[in-house]
Amino acid sequence: RSLAIFSLIFSWVLSYSASSSQRLLTKINHQASHDQLTKLYNRHAFVDMLQRRVNEVNATQSYAYMLLIDLDHFKAVNDTLSHHVGDALLKEVANRLQKAARQMSEPIIARVGGDEFIYLSAMFETRSDALKEANAKAKELLASLKENYSLDAHQANISASIGISLLDQSANDVNAYIKEADIAMYEVKNLGRDGVILFNAQLSKKLNERLAIEQKLSFSIQNREIFLNFQPQFNIAKEIVGCEALVRWKNEELGMVPPDKFIIIAEQTGFIVPLGNYILQESLKTLMDWYLQGIKVQKFSINISSRQLFEPSFVEDTIAICERHLDAQLRSVLVFEITETHFIEDLPRVVSIIERLKKSINVKFSIDDFGTGFSSLSYLQKLPIDEIKIDKSFVDALSDDKNDQHMINIMFAIAKVFKLKIVAEGVETREQYDYLVAQNCDALQGYLLSKPLSREEFELLYLKQ
Ligand code: C2E
Ligand code: CA
Ligand code: CA
Repeated sequence: RSLAIFSLIFSWVLSYSASSSQRLLTKINHQASHDQLTKLYNRHAFVDMLQRRVNEVNATQSYAYMLLIDLDHFKAVNDTLSHHVGDALLKEVANRLQKAARQMSEPIIARVGGDEFIYLSAMFETRSDALKEANAKAKELLASLKENYSLDAHQANISASIGISLLDQSANDVNAYIKEADIAMYEVKNLGRDGVILFNAQLSKKLNERLAIEQKLSFSIQNREIFLNFQPQFNIAKEIVGCEALVRWKNEELGMVPPDKFIIIAEQTGFIVPLGNYILQESLKTLMDWYLQGIKVQKFSINISSRQLFEPSFVEDTIAICERHLDAQLRSVLVFEITETHFIEDLPRVVSIIERLKKSINVKFSIDDFGTGFSSLSYLQKLPIDEIKIDKSFVDALSDDKNDQHMINIMFAIAKVFKLKIVAEGVETREQYDYLVAQNCDALQGYLLSKPLSREEFELLYLKQ
């Protein structure tokens, strides 16, 4: 009998531990397939479910759709309101998506990245039903996500970029559909965020072109396709006082690609860092050679993009390149052009970078495209800069037909108060020129005086004057 009791207890213990291990297993499974913060499915689980839905769609000749939802400027919320508030926002986003899902049969909602969510629909019999519902759902979700958030005494607003891909039996591979949604979502971002786009073949063509440019650009330095032009800057006596170095890229297949197009790409891929260093190095070599040839410019401007400026090694790299290529007495000729968008990101950091470079290599700084950004007078007071460069749009306003001198006059007044040199760019007409000369502009640059020149052309022009 004692044996019977013992075996009874033993089997009870066994079954108890079996059910608790079952629970534990369920819990582990849940943890492995769900995102801890929002309790939505995670990427891993989502990919499995998407594969199942794709199989179903293919087997039954039906349709479904997927929405890739990426929050706009989520990082700013995180950075300005703390990670805690950021987490609360993500949870609320998840709640809103789930609420919208409850009205529908079987949609799957997942968090697939930091601020990326996916909504995968149930099946539809026809393509047009799926499309109609996809557009309506995306708009509904966007509107709901844009409603105000109250988070721990903070109020926040956020929008989202939503890419739609249609599961239409065209692929077996889940990655194909994910990629389509991704391409569509990025197009929304490109067009200014806060919107919905359905993937289409043109988008993928555009993407392929872009990838081809990225790939070719990454070889442009080693293939010797990068070179510089120099646009002269003149004083009011029409003497050349200096120049602005402007980068050029000539590729065998693509031909000349304008900097407006490839600099943005280089910034996004990070190629701007080696490119910027190369531009700096070639600029300094040119400046040094010119000096030895008797071409003694008083200033030599180089554009520095923000991604380059904020690269942790920027100050160090720049000092090293200067020490290698340029005599110490020539360094004060250098002017780095930065734009107002640089210091909106992180003013104290910009001030520190400028101060370190001024101290070690004595380079000057100019604000390019002045007046187009968000500079406030307090920025100007804090920034140790030397020059402002009036944007072409304000110079344009001086033309006969517009005859609007207000902004230019304000800029001259600002330059005077802050003791800054003032350069006008994009001078194309006689009227613009005369007005700027009458204001005693320190330097003028524009097609009226000279287009950007090759190195040889610049040398000839300089020596001829
Ligand atoms: P930016 O710094 O504002 O350069 C002035 C642009 O205006 C140049 O175009 C120049 O050729 C053009 N320009 C000069 N005078 C006139 C004029 O009278 N009329 C008109 N319509 N345009 C004029 P570019 O060379 O195509 O450069 C475009 C932009 O690309 C530059 O704008 C700058 O933001 C960027 N960029 C150019 N070179 C470099 C570089 O070496 N490094 C970096 N980071 N960016 C560069
Ligand atoms: Ca410039
Ligand atoms: Ca400019």
